Amino acid sequence: MPCDLTNPIFKNEAAAVTHMEADRWPNGVTCPLCGSDTPKKMGGQTQAGMFLCGACRGKFTVRTGTVFERSHIPLHKWLMATHLIASSKKGISAHQLHRMLGITYKSAWFMAHRIREAMAPDESVSADPMGGEGKIVEVDETYIGNKKGRKLRGKNHPGNIKHTVVALVEREGGVRSFHVKEPMNKKVARKILFRNIDKRSDIVTHESQLYPAPAANFIRHSTVNHSNKEYARGDIHTNTIEGVFSIFKRGMIGTYQHCGEQHLQRYLNEFDFRYSNRTKLGVSDAARATKILKGAEGKRLTYRQVG
Ligand SMILES: [Zn+2]
Repeated sequence: MPCDLTNPIFKNEAAAVTHMEADRWPNGVTCPLCGSDTPKKMGGQTQAGMFLCGACRGKFTVRTGTVFERSHIPLHKWLMATHLIASSKKGISAHQLHRMLGITYKSAWFMAHRIREAMAPDESVSADPMGGEGKIVEVDETYIGNKKGRKLRGKNHPGNIKHTVVALVEREGGVRSFHVKEPMNKKVARKILFRNIDKRSDIVTHESQLYPAPAANFIRHSTVNHSNKEYARGDIHTNTIEGVFSIFKRGMIGTYQHCGEQHLQRYLNEFDFRYSNRTKLGVSDAARATKILKGAEGKRLTYRQVG
């Protein structure tokens, strides 16, 4: 199903609320405060969309306990923003959202960050390893942007210090990217590989001192030597991960021109989410947006850290 922006859920608040309720509670409303299945819809204009729980007597709406809580922006605009972010391969800037949705730039910026929070992986997902028997996982690192106030000159410091990003991509599968804040070394590489990849996987990297030691614990480790202008030997290549980095870099340069170091992981999560739920894997634009809405639940506390 494509993302159809003429759908009433993007223009009409009542339609948006009904859509979100059906999406969140397909088997009947449950209270997000106590888990009871006895809530009743409240009547009256001032209490539109409000439920009263028969068990804990708490009041709540479809926004309660989600990243949309405590926001004055109508839900139909939240839905529109979610669909736009879900279907824009290189992302969509807060400036663009501000103009398209008729909200302030500041609101658009916070909205986009909350939606990114909904796209962040759950703890349970990162506990579930990538790859497996007969599966290939490409591992690579890239360096992007400039670290604030760390402009160093001299032979050993060509230009600015950049941020390190390590990513793992399973062929015909998903990607996980990590903003590495400490200096990149074998220990860091080991931690990332061990935590995220099934030991029965084949690992492919470029020739680097970082990976041979940790990768020796996996079923097979192959390398491509880029300095020899070698890019592929059969299925031994890192083209998939390079494609992922290329989309991310084009997005960061073209769409998100100003990204502070503290937000880099959030942008990585956004791009990882779209790639891991891409059309080629059978996930439509609309289904991707629905998955974001599912992820919006239970992430309210994490969001508060954004400030
Ligand atoms: Zn309750």
